[in-house]
Amino acid sequence: MPNPPLPSKRAPAFADVPDDKWNNWRWQLSNRINTPEEFEKVISLTDSERKALSASHLFRVDITPYFISLIDPGNPDDPVRKQVVPTAAEMLPFTSMMEDSLAEDRHSPVPGLVHRYPDRVLMLVTTQCATYCRYCTRSRIVGDPAATFSRDEFEMQLDYLESTPQVRDVLLSGGDPLVLAPKILEEILSRLREIPHIEIIRIGSRVPVFLPMRVTTKLTGMLQKYHPLWINIHVNHPNEITAELAEACDRMTRAGIPLGNQTVLLAGVNDNVHIQRDLVQKLVRIRVRPYYLYQCDLVEGAGHFRTPVAKGIEIMEGLRGHTSGFAVHQYIIDGPGGGGKIPVSPNYMLSMSDHKIVLRNYEGFITTYEEPTGYLPESAAKFEGQKRLEPGQSGISSLLEGKQMFIKPEGFEEIHARGGLQHRLKDERKWMSLGIGPGETEEAQDENE
Ligand code: SF4
Repeated sequence: MPNPPLPSKRAPAFADVPDDKWNNWRWQLSNRINTPEEFEKVISLTDSERKALSASHLFRVDITPYFISLIDPGNPDDPVRKQVVPTAAEMLPFTSMMEDSLAEDRHSPVPGLVHRYPDRVLMLVTTQCATYCRYCTRSRIVGDPAATFSRDEFEMQLDYLESTPQVRDVLLSGGDPLVLAPKILEEILSRLREIPHIEIIRIGSRVPVFLPMRVTTKLTGMLQKYHPLWINIHVNHPNEITAELAEACDRMTRAGIPLGNQTVLLAGVNDNVHIQRDLVQKLVRIRVRPYYLYQCDLVEGAGHFRTPVAKGIEIMEGLRGHTSGFAVHQYIIDGPGGGGKIPVSPNYMLSMSDHKIVLRNYEGFITTYEEPTGYLPESAAKFEGQKRLEPGQSGISSLLEGKQMFIKPEGFEEIHARGGLQHRLKDERKWMSLGIGPGETEEAQDENE
């Protein structure tokens, strides 16, 4: 049986707009909905929404006519509506709420360039989006034209990248890079491609979801000049998967751009295993690989969207094994304070002995895996290439590799010295492990291997 057709909607308020305008991304951007009067022509506002729309200090509101048409106008709980129409709940503070909960600005060596991981950076190229999500992690800058990055800052970002050869992967985000003027976007891509050590470029964009008509063959033709280029889109609910989004994704995949999807787990929107299963299956149908399911960040204005982490675990339990493995996204908590992406999942390993592990599958079937008894670690495959150094960030992996034996919290030595004396029993050599520890730099160790 063929797949049922995907929906294509236009709210009655836009019935008279000629098709050439409706399908023009510039028309969609310049006719975005943001005042109570404009909203009332398309959906019936609740008191809470009216209050939020008349507040002066809330995160920016703008919704493309295309995207607002996906809302069921009489349903205040519509999952698309909740993502983009503000409510008074945004004004409620909550414990641990922060302006910049991922400490991105602290991890920025130059403005707008977040260097958190060893080999990749996040490059913020604009603060503008096609539509604004009420839970936006970067609401501290997004939507504010005055916060956008200057030409001088762009040059500083490029200078940093040129002089930092450990960076092999640049993720363009913002804001949304695909709302930039085509010339500016191309300039950014071409300047990045001039840096030899940058192997891949990624773009994170919600434009295909909010404004699919922006993904023209002219745009994809430009993008494919800068391969390898990957794009992650951002769909949270199956109702966002329309014929228009499918066509935009088709244009991108035909241009050789691999597509992934990021979803934010949102209370009242997609905190249900059956919605998530429908979402990932529909994404795969339009050739988009589900990538991450994010726990909602501790960001100002987003408290009412947060779920307990247990809800995410329950969802993952209902995905793994229940649908194709490549349709299962990875559940992630982005570590508050700049901890980076930390995967969390149900436990599948129940126990272990010196030669056996006990596992359970999604059905509750319990099995054992017999470990090999003749495995020789010293016979493991040898890596002949040049190891990539991860200065200061080799982490747990370096404990396993035997490069260091401890990772200590900041100030550990000072606290445990208890203000005492350097006395005759304190001899550093006592706690130096044979073959591990200082004495050689990582680089020297690497050369000796
Ligand atoms: S598209 Fe992304 S950057 Fe823009 S408002 Fe939504 S979450 Fe924030």
